Amino acid sequence: MGGILVYVLHYEGALNKNSLGAVSEGAKLAAELGTTADAIVVGGADLTDELLGTLGDYGAAKVFRAEGAEGLAQPVIDAMDKVIEENGHDYVIFGGGLLGFEIGAGLAARRNAGVTMEVTGVVVEGGKLVAERPILGDSQISRSHYKGLGIIIGRINAFELKPGAGGAAEVVDVTVEYSPWSNQATMVQRGEQRGADVNIEDASVLVAGGRGLGKAEGFQLCEDLAGVLGGAVAATRAVVDAGWYPYAAQIGQTGKSVAPKLYLAAGISGAIQHKVGMQASENIVAINKDANAPIFEFSDLGIVGDLNKILPKLTEAVKAKKGG
Ligand SMILES: Cc1cc2nc3c(=O)[nH]c(=O)nc-3n(C[C@H](O)[C@H](O)[C@H](O)COP(=O)(O)OP(=O)(O)OC[C@H]3O[C@@H](n4cnc5c(N)ncnc54)[C@H](O)[C@@H]3O)c2cc1C
Repeated sequence: MGGILVYVLHYEGALNKNSLGAVSEGAKLAAELGTTADAIVVGGADLTDELLGTLGDYGAAKVFRAEGAEGLAQPVIDAMDKVIEENGHDYVIFGGGLLGFEIGAGLAARRNAGVTMEVTGVVVEGGKLVAERPILGDSQISRSHYKGLGIIIGRINAFELKPGAGGAAEVVDVTVEYSPWSNQATMVQRGEQRGADVNIEDASVLVAGGRGLGKAEGFQLCEDLAGVLGGAVAATRAVVDAGWYPYAAQIGQTGKSVAPKLYLAAGISGAIQHKVGMQASENIVAINKDANAPIFEFSDLGIVGDLNKILPKLTEAVKAKKGG
């Protein structure tokens, strides 16, 4: 039968945005391949027919629903293994994230499949999927072709959400016999990353930090300034990849697009992939120690200097002005 199977993560009755993007991407690619894209969910009673039917609007034909522990990799691997065995899917797509990495790797081992992580684009060539993945500090693109089952795990936000396909997806219940080890782990607590609650898309002031902050703790300087300005903190791909700040704060091609009144970029070089997410800002102020940094080419105000000296002084000055 073939086709594409997309894993859909959910939390407290809401479907994950990156997963919905992966469903849209799967449906687009399936149409090009002349096949269909299905989705799979694992969880409990909150996975209603009504909720899962909405995946049809993102292009899913069928939604396979398995009852099991949500948020853990092993039960999902068992469920996906069974669905692929019975339906013969040729490709599996994940929206990204640590859970996607873990399930994708486990599924690849189980089914002897090829797996590519951090994929930013997928194309159809000769009736097959080819996954594109940036490598060597994002300076080159590697291309993965697959023999047999191909597992594609996207970079967070790499796949665009495209609702509007219309129609409810067909919901199919699957009974899974879980492996003895699959339910050994239990979910103790599930929550959002630090900063995930801040809606940076709606903030009128953003203080954005890049690799020039030097280390994760450097973000404190941005948080202090954002605090006194009543704004939020944003980040570049380089620093979220390094684990210095949450993905939710990433601006750019594979992050969020913003247009605040003020975008203050500290220690950010101004790569094109970052620029596309913030160039619509009303006022761009950049602090960089390199006078030739590309960010100065599209800044309204450029400050050449060390952010470690400038940011604390700026924070104090704003505080003093507010107090006075
Ligand atoms: C397919 C693809 C998608 C991508 N998507 C995104 C995306 O969505 N968002 C994104 O941001 N990037 C993205 N990138 C990565 C992008 O190309 C850059 O690598 C990244 O934006 C660089 O981040 P940075 O500016 O923090 O780091 P760097 O480029 O390393 O810049 C650090 C800057 O800090 C300055 N600096 C250092 N120390 C100090 C100091 N003490 N005081 C002041 N300045 C200092 C340096 O002069 C330098 O200009 C993508 C790349 C690819 C290939």
